[in-house]
Amino acid sequence: MSLSIKAVQYAYRDLPVSQARVKEKPRESAFVFKNREQKKIKPRKDTLLLFTGDIMLDRAVRKSVKKNASGDFSFLFQKIKPAVQKADIAFGNLEGPVSDVGSDIGNLYSFRMPPEALEAIKDAGFDALSLANNHTGDWGRVAFEDTLLRLNTAGILPVGGGYNENNAVNSKPISKNGLRFSFLGFSDVGPKWLKASKNRSGILIADGSFAKTIKKMAKKTDVLIISIHFGEEYKKFSNKRQQMLAKSAIDNGAKIVIGHHPHVTQEVEKYKDGIIAYSLGNFIFDQNFSKETMRGLMLEVVISPDGKIKSFKKRMVKMNEFFQPELQ
Ligand SMILES: [Zn+2]
Repeated sequence: MSLSIKAVQYAYRDLPVSQARVKEKPRESAFVFKNREQKKIKPRKDTLLLFTGDIMLDRAVRKSVKKNASGDFSFLFQKIKPAVQKADIAFGNLEGPVSDVGSDIGNLYSFRMPPEALEAIKDAGFDALSLANNHTGDWGRVAFEDTLLRLNTAGILPVGGGYNENNAVNSKPISKNGLRFSFLGFSDVGPKWLKASKNRSGILIADGSFAKTIKKMAKKTDVLIISIHFGEEYKKFSNKRQQMLAKSAIDNGAKIVIGHHPHVTQEVEKYKDGIIAYSLGNFIFDQNFSKETMRGLMLEVVISPDGKIKSFKKRMVKMNEFFQPELQ
């Protein structure tokens, strides 16, 4: 069956002027079939991304859960869960291994979260967690690899860590609304002994191959998000090195740079067509010695169907006495 141009125009007569105008010059039957195909595809939507800072559910946080919720870690997320679940993709920095194996390597502070903690993080709505940070090796490589396995099993994307370098660099993109969202994570504060190599598991370190790794991944994905554990603890403003790394990430094709490690919040700025959050501060951490360390930023970024940043919003989150984060 072939339709005349007139008939096609007639069919679109009732459309709003803007759409009718687009459809004025149909290429006859080819157009009709193409249009029929398109109808099967759902209209493309915006994607809401959500980023939080450090998540550390050991030490006093764990004690609070034991005392106030009989060990049920979901207690921590009670007040924030709706905000996390609203996002299409939620990300946080997992500041330490989640495991019941390994041995304490004897850092000044060594963290290891129990496996139940990860269930609660998953249940709260997190999709991706960064492992590239200074506490990830606190209980040795065994606990680190166990953490990788547990994240993969839970369906949470491990960011910045892998069973080898290739695995750490080429983590699978998360597909949402027809776009591929890829994450890369780097630590600029070690531990260097846990740097991933060809044959060894570990994390990515922000060293000489930083820009090259980002550039390569940017070509293979639609929206590239870079997580970097960097900066100085308790400093309210980013330093030169943070700025150099974050800007280099955007210059090499990343869209969003998410920083953490200072335990306090730092600047959020637009740079070229990207956005940089130098430090989101703490999300859940037992640092109740100051107001600044008991709060953090949740960054919401809306990505339009063409993969560009449509808007972003900073939301202040404060922990209460039980270490439950609450929106301000
Ligand atoms: Zn840190």
